[in-house]
Amino acid sequence: MKMTDNPLIIAANQLNKTVAGFKVLAREYYFDVILSVHFCPECGGRIVMTGSSECRCECGNVFDPTLAFQKSTCCERRLRRKTLHYVCSDCGNVVPSLFLFNERLFDKAYFREMAGKSRARAARQKQEMGRILAESRSDVLLLTDEPRLKSITGLLEDLDDFIGTPAPEPDFLRLDSDSVFRMADYRTHILHVVGDDCLMFSDIGPLVDDLRRDRVWRFITLIFMQNDREVMLTQYGNDFLVEAAR
Ligand SMILES: [Zn+2]
Ligand SMILES: [Zn+2]
Repeated sequence: MKMTDNPLIIAANQLNKTVAGFKVLAREYYFDVILSVHFCPECGGRIVMTGSSECRCECGNVFDPTLAFQKSTCCERRLRRKTLHYVCSDCGNVVPSLFLFNERLFDKAYFREMAGKSRARAARQKQEMGRILAESRSDVLLLTDEPRLKSITGLLEDLDDFIGTPAPEPDFLRLDSDSVFRMADYRTHILHVVGDDCLMFSDIGPLVDDLRRDRVWRFITLIFMQNDREVMLTQYGNDFLVEAAR
């Protein structure tokens, strides 16, 4: 019997779907309640959520409700928006936004700018290196962009595991489709979620239930996609930004 025919697995999948549906409803309900007491600062009209801490009024006014409505609990001051969170504008304490429901603040403009700067810097370094090499007529290969895989927690170990994994079993021995790496599926998935925009590696949803394996497969696919100039990857601490290459 295949794993996917197991009644318990079928029931568990059904439960997952129900929970996901419930989360959507809970989010809608939460914002219905919270937006019922807030109105457009421009015209006093009703507002709807249109993104992560972003809302829109019928009058066309699009704004950040956390900045417009929320005060810090520490100093009762307006909040200031940082790249991935909000802080009290007086003392700098981190303040969780009331207008994010199980979501992350993600400043696309900031990451685009940072990624652009980082690419410009890399291009300058490469040019400079080319100049130095030409001057010294050296044929030594110097790597200026050293990969920093170590800074992504656990990824090296996962990659080691992956390399040490025995070759996939023949079809008739396979338990479920989760045990086979299908790069084409990952590529389609990544192209779909990234679109012509950008997002963080950690925000790309998994394709298989084994999250460790999924992370490795996602990562390997991205490396190939970067090589094919389909995406651009820029590292930020222990995560990296995935941008559509245009
Ligand atoms: Zn308005
Ligand atoms: Zn404060």
